[in-house]
Amino acid sequence: MKAVVTGAARGIGAAIAAVLAERGVEVVTIDLAEGCDHRVDVARDPLPDLSDVDVCVPNAAITNTVAPAHRMTPAQWQRDIDVNLSGAFRTVQACLAGMRERGFGRVIAISSGAAQAGLPGQVAYSASKAGLIGMVKTIAAENVARGITANAVLPGFVETENVLAMPPEVLERARAGLPAGRMAAPREVAELVAYLASEQAGYVTGQAIGIDGGLALNTRSIT
Ligand code: NAD
Repeated sequence: MKAVVTGAARGIGAAIAAVLAERGVEVVTIDLAEGCDHRVDVARDPLPDLSDVDVCVPNAAITNTVAPAHRMTPAQWQRDIDVNLSGAFRTVQACLAGMRERGFGRVIAISSGAAQAGLPGQVAYSASKAGLIGMVKTIAAENVARGITANAVLPGFVETENVLAMPPEVLERARAGLPAGRMAAPREVAELVAYLASEQAGYVTGQAIGIDGGLALNTRSIT
């Protein structure tokens, strides 16, 4: 089995690549930053040949564009959509023909809880992540008879280098609001991705699967 993971230089992408490799999957890694097999901007560079890929994990994203909707510039909006949504689609599209030919495929897009709950200050990010849900549902429907599943994973707060680099007071406020009292470890997200990538997950398709320690729940009690 062969997988591609984008945005694999660090964080959740690096954890996904590591866990898939532990399960015996041959993993091709892509990132704009150094340290992966291919140094590529998923939004606009030519992608490597992915026609023999069975498991496609579009994970690369710009996560730090912060501006309220009334002040977001067209360029900020466009770049988030180009990388997070169009970059994911380009990656998936490069894998699909081969998957359809072989009658097996797993598409696992890394979305975010922000896709369903919104996230003040990150309108383009939230919109791009919501777009991924529509994307996987359509790919799932188009390919359900071809042995291909397509799902979106929606993490809440995950303890990556990126998140830990936030100002301490922001981090403290974020932590205080977490119903589970902690963030997810990148590996916990990677384990869910590895399940969705497995042969055993062939009947799970078109789903938006949260992994958020209850963050999306109403945990305000009336008792
Ligand atoms: P991160 O910023 O640490 O890693 C993202 C990686 O994507 C980086 O290595 C970066 O270089 C790469 N990348 C960015 N733009 C690229 C481009 N144009 N082409 C190729 N590579 C590019 O982020 P992370 O925290 O590990 O998050 C990984 C994924 O999980 C993202 O899709 C993010 O939206 C999602 N997510 C993260 C959290 C969290 O709390 N960390 C929560 C919800 C969803």
